[in-house]
Amino acid sequence: MTRDFLKGVRDRYDVVVIGAGLAGMTAANALARAGHGVLLLEQHFKLGGLATWFRRPGGHIFDVSLHGFPVGMIKSCRRYWTREIADRIVQLKNIRFDNPMFSLSTTFDRDDFTRLLVERFHIAPDAVGRFFDTARDMNFYDDQAITTRELFDRFFPGREDVVRLLMEPITYANGSTLEDPALTYGIVFSNFMSKGVFTFQGGTDRLVEAMRDEMVRNGVDVRIRANVQRIHVRGGRVEAVTVNGRTVPTRAVVSNANLKTTILDLIGSDRLDRDFVDQVRAVRLNNSSTQVYMALGAGQMIDESCGDLLFSSTAPAFRTDLLLSRDASSRTYSFYYPKTRPERNRCLIVASTNANYADWAELPREEYELAKGNLARSTLDDVEKYVPGIRDKLDHVEVSTPVTFRRYTQHVDGASFGTKFEGLAVSRALPEQIAGMYHAGSVGIIMSGWLGAVNYGVIVANDVDAFLLKK
Ligand SMILES: Cc1cc2nc3c(=O)[nH]c(=O)nc-3n(C[C@H](O)[C@H](O)[C@H](O)COP(=O)(O)OP(=O)(O)OC[C@H]3O[C@@H](n4cnc5c(N)ncnc54)[C@H](O)[C@@H]3O)c2cc1C
Repeated sequence: MTRDFLKGVRDRYDVVVIGAGLAGMTAANALARAGHGVLLLEQHFKLGGLATWFRRPGGHIFDVSLHGFPVGMIKSCRRYWTREIADRIVQLKNIRFDNPMFSLSTTFDRDDFTRLLVERFHIAPDAVGRFFDTARDMNFYDDQAITTRELFDRFFPGREDVVRLLMEPITYANGSTLEDPALTYGIVFSNFMSKGVFTFQGGTDRLVEAMRDEMVRNGVDVRIRANVQRIHVRGGRVEAVTVNGRTVPTRAVVSNANLKTTILDLIGSDRLDRDFVDQVRAVRLNNSSTQVYMALGAGQMIDESCGDLLFSSTAPAFRTDLLLSRDASSRTYSFYYPKTRPERNRCLIVASTNANYADWAELPREEYELAKGNLARSTLDDVEKYVPGIRDKLDHVEVSTPVTFRRYTQHVDGASFGTKFEGLAVSRALPEQIAGMYHAGSVGIIMSGWLGAVNYGVIVANDVDAFLLKK
């Protein structure tokens, strides 16, 4: 007999949260803390969404998206999760760049970037100061017409090397490009620059387990393998969801599923204004990713001078299309030393590249497998520069593609960072279309990434709380 993952669900909830990514879990936790009855439904067998991990024989645990986030995560986790979670967030101190234009190490904060820009790139201190202040003062209500390229041209005209230093990590961090609005760059860049890049000591498995425990303590009814197929709307308001074929009534819904899937598939365009549906259809998705996971055998160590994060590229210049190409010339490496999970005493490397879904999804099966093999091979050739003899040290190598991300999270086109900027306005406008219907998840670049997703979960939980109290 098949197991019933919904056994014991109540007849009715105040809120149903669809999806247990960081935004979904944070919203569920905040709403339960505020005293509401919350049901959290996750289609996968694990919580975390893209903040996930997987185990392989030999005692290896790979983190999928634990590469680095801004210091703001400490405050958000302390306030909206627990002190124990916040206390495990530590700084990554050795961030490296290696490309045909420059090779350098940095602590990735304003002081060190200023030093590099002045001493190494010979930019006038005044221009550097004004650039940082401009980026820091940007906010959501600013002029959205100026692009990131125009922002750089204003402060560093003709300096492609400086653009590369300032842009490459942010493109990796949220998939943004030089053509995106400058404010999306300014907000994310300033978040990182305030104190540098941080990680969670103990790994994603430990973080998500701590989050699950906290949600259960606060009374969230957490269900895995619970795939929501429909959000029911009547008379302009949410009334129920259908999950695994069963209909569960609720006063409000927070969807952490992909924005476009939520609106066009789970709700259905016939329930919404035509103009709004057109707006939803026009929302662009962010790009996806490929990753090569490499585990070194027991007793094989990597010297920590390799760095924590390494932005490596053989491309002569920084160009978005090159970053997305299947013939990867730019890779971001995360080096995980035994300190990440001391009890396991393992070294791992994860190489990530931004990628287009169509480049992978449209390949016939055999070609797809060949392309994965080629990616693993070319990545190992590249790693050889940093860890000589890498092939002899390895215990396990594995490749994921945009198709993998789509399969595990149901994100349209395997998007790693949700939608482009215009998705934020659509996400925020959803409750005006349907009373009690909210979306919290990666949208608009600013609200994506670990910190963006957690913070957006909090913002939306506050909206839902106000809605439920008003009723
Ligand atoms: C390769 C890679 C590297 C990354 N590196 C970083 C990094 O270094 N730093 C950083 O800050 N960010 C990074 N990110 C981005 C970050 O992981 C995400 O932005 C963030 O985790 C997204 O959280 P979210 O709440 O939007 O939801 P998601 O993680 O997208 O989760 C959505 C959840 O909804 C569930 N779901 C979908 N449909 C349904 C349904 N119908 N019913 C039930 N459940 C459903 C999915 O299974 C999933 O669990 C990376 C992402 C990728 C892919």
